[in-house]
Amino acid sequence: MAFDYAPAPESRSVVDIAPSYGLFIDGEFREAADGKVFKTVSPANEEVLSEVADAGEADVDAAVRAARRAFASWSALPGAERGKYLFRIARILQERSRELAVLETLDNGKPIRETRDADLPLVAAHFFYHAGWADKLSHAGYGPAPQPLGVAGQIIPWNFPLLMLAWKIAPALATGNTVVLKPAETTPLSALFFADVCRQAGLPRGVVNILTGHGAAGAALVAHPDVNKVAFTGSTAVGKQIARTVAGTDKKLTLELGGKGANIVFDDAPIDQAVEGIVNGIFFNQGQVCCAGSRLLVQESIQDELLDSLKRRLGTLRIGDPLDKNTDIGAINSAEQLARITALAETGEAEGATRWSPECELPGSGYWFAPTLFTGVSQAHTVARDEIFGPVLSVLTFRTPDEAVAKANNTPYGLSAGIWTEKGSRILAMANRLRAGVVWANTFNKFDPTSPFGGYKESGFGREGGRHGLEAYLDV
Ligand code: NAD
Repeated sequence: MAFDYAPAPESRSVVDIAPSYGLFIDGEFREAADGKVFKTVSPANEEVLSEVADAGEADVDAAVRAARRAFASWSALPGAERGKYLFRIARILQERSRELAVLETLDNGKPIRETRDADLPLVAAHFFYHAGWADKLSHAGYGPAPQPLGVAGQIIPWNFPLLMLAWKIAPALATGNTVVLKPAETTPLSALFFADVCRQAGLPRGVVNILTGHGAAGAALVAHPDVNKVAFTGSTAVGKQIARTVAGTDKKLTLELGGKGANIVFDDAPIDQAVEGIVNGIFFNQGQVCCAGSRLLVQESIQDELLDSLKRRLGTLRIGDPLDKNTDIGAINSAEQLARITALAETGEAEGATRWSPECELPGSGYWFAPTLFTGVSQAHTVARDEIFGPVLSVLTFRTPDEAVAKANNTPYGLSAGIWTEKGSRILAMANRLRAGVVWANTFNKFDPTSPFGGYKESGFGREGGRHGLEAYLDV
């Protein structure tokens, strides 16, 4: 008998979504000062999920003032006390992870398998890890009594809404800073849920403030004179703008920007394992990952064999309802992002690269893009140079390790790389020569709160995670 049982999709009734949400300022939800709101939709079907307050300059000012008032007592708390709040937040996040996974999938469009098995466990792990640091800062190697900076203004993107929030808020609070965070306009809901988690944990008012809104609210936060530290993750263009605003002030800045990661496969690599790593590298979160392995560099002698296997594997990927536990590829986060990916893929074709996708049926409504391969790609092609931030892989070849290093490094970015080979000595030699903040060996897209993450060149500067990440929030 055929095995035709398909598990039911995760029900959206797991989580309550209110018809409208306010800004979270000084421990309370309130409307924007000018009453403006915007809608957030599910990218999988364009259904309106909720209406949220659209922060303006007055709200930015109110949130920064609240964070400043809270800073005096929060920074004076013994580290062990701050740690207790962080442990409490981490435990609540674990307890409510099912709700949060569904909410994140609805608002972002990514498969529930990813939010449930990757994003949410990493979010909790990040708070647990930093809770542990809160009373050990004098042992972090920054002197006997490193001091917090003050009010941190944090701006995050839509690709990992809650995980990027955790990367920003956990180290800031552990080190005694207070926070004003602005989530991306297409994914505000999990940050608002997190505000509720802060209340549930009894976090003192004003320590965390959440401002939903657009780029202008982010710009106002960066420019606010009473913000001491700016942390940004997003596009290189906005990152450069922020660097210009902050230049000449005494604000501390960390930038986590784009990437064009190379996944380098040598002829001695185990092909099946490498294929899984390539798929994970570029199709995880629909390729909307700053450290995605968006360039495949394959040694010429195994090109045909590897591409055959890869195409067969891509034919088995399931695209569709992100709430279905069997789904591998979900929706693109927004109509704008879909248009950007579509335009770059069209440029790839126009410039003469060969485009291929497996046969697949895309849902009728929502924002969808089929997994796509470009072969016959040269280094001059746009698809080899520009960050596409979508499920599009550009395949290039190399003959020698030197050529692989040269091609991998031939990009304005420097965030990630992967090496696939049986030879340990080759892994070490290559890793030393690759200008990338993270180099994975025989794996890809593995994250851990103990490891510092960050880029070279136009991928930004500063590190998040690990002991190194604390430095960005301390006066050392
Ligand atoms: P973006 O940089 O415009 O937005 C990221 C965040 O910055 C959002 O919260 C946004 O509201 C805010 N923002 C926008 N303009 C701002 C300004 N002038 N000052 C302060 N904050 C501002 O990114 P996007 O438009 O969502 O995506 C565009 C491209 O950026 C993508 O195609 C991708 O290449 C890249 N991107 C990278 C990452 C990453 O993780 N490095 C994440 C998202 C997007």
